[in-house]
Amino acid sequence: MIIVLKQNAAEEHVDAIVKKIEGFGLGVHFVHGKERTIIGAIGSDAINYRDHFTSMAGVENIVPIMKPFKLASRELQQERSLVQVGDQVFGSPNFKVIAGPCSVENREMLLQTAQEVKDAGASLLRGGAFKPRTSPYSFQGLGEEGLKLLAEARDITGLPVVTEVMDVRDIELMVRYADMLQVGARNMQNFRLLKEVGQTSKPVILKRGMSATVEDLLMSAEYIISQGNKQVILCERGVRTFETATRNTLDLSAVPVINSLSHLPVVVDPSHATGRWDLVAPMAKAALAAGADGLMIEVHPSPAEALCDGPQSLKPERFKQLMDDLRRIALAVGRDL
Ligand code: PEP
Ligand code: MN
Repeated sequence: MIIVLKQNAAEEHVDAIVKKIEGFGLGVHFVHGKERTIIGAIGSDAINYRDHFTSMAGVENIVPIMKPFKLASRELQQERSLVQVGDQVFGSPNFKVIAGPCSVENREMLLQTAQEVKDAGASLLRGGAFKPRTSPYSFQGLGEEGLKLLAEARDITGLPVVTEVMDVRDIELMVRYADMLQVGARNMQNFRLLKEVGQTSKPVILKRGMSATVEDLLMSAEYIISQGNKQVILCERGVRTFETATRNTLDLSAVPVINSLSHLPVVVDPSHATGRWDLVAPMAKAALAAGADGLMIEVHPSPAEALCDGPQSLKPERFKQLMDDLRRIALAVGRDL
């Protein structure tokens, strides 16, 4: 439930409210809005305690949170969350593009790609070091060596780096190198992993599972936030449908749906959503127009030779062209990049 505080609520009264919330075993979550401060009292049956708070000094009003996700909900927080990754901020009118190869393959290709996406105007570098491959015989990623190369690419280009964490056992290693942790579609409901990344101080990009509803996605975000890590970015990357023309089906309507339900930034990954490089640009533009806060795009210097996801990877020159097109669209929809 939401406890709306009186505008001039005294500190001692607020302290008493917090103590009481904690006494009932509920989580305490302050939201300092422009006009007033509210306290989220978070727990599955929080609203049952309503009567204990209504007449306390400093309390203006009590409002239930109707959605099963609480901390991620717009009901709790009207204002959009800003998520900072390195020196980049997601969730503002400034549109952010995360770009880079599916996986870190070697030093030369990573540094080349990093420089080219940086020159084209990307804000973050992506690259997998631990890869969730369907086949155990496919390239699994370079592991720690890949993380070191990402860190070197960051040092050279200044781009913060994001990479996927697949296993709780790797978290300690990843946080030493990455600026943002990625939880992939296949792990969106790995609840132990979500709780563990929720205990780190790194921002997290949480990708929608291929058969997950928007509500499932927001419940997974709730897992992370409930551990204390509010720095969560959501990513729509397509869902499985009967359609076979594309790798997945991009659920573009998820963008405005998420924006209406949640204060968290949302980005779109048109690469994994379509599986086809020729569809990446049109879907990227549509995502910007639909209100996304950014994109995640796979770029490879030589897609035909890529060890992973070549068919959906843009060549650097095509990526540059796309960035130029996005800049024009951004202007038309009140954004910039
Ligand atoms: C990725 O971004 O490298 C990836 C594996 O994506 P997803 O989890 O969306 O399939
Ligand atoms: Mn990929």
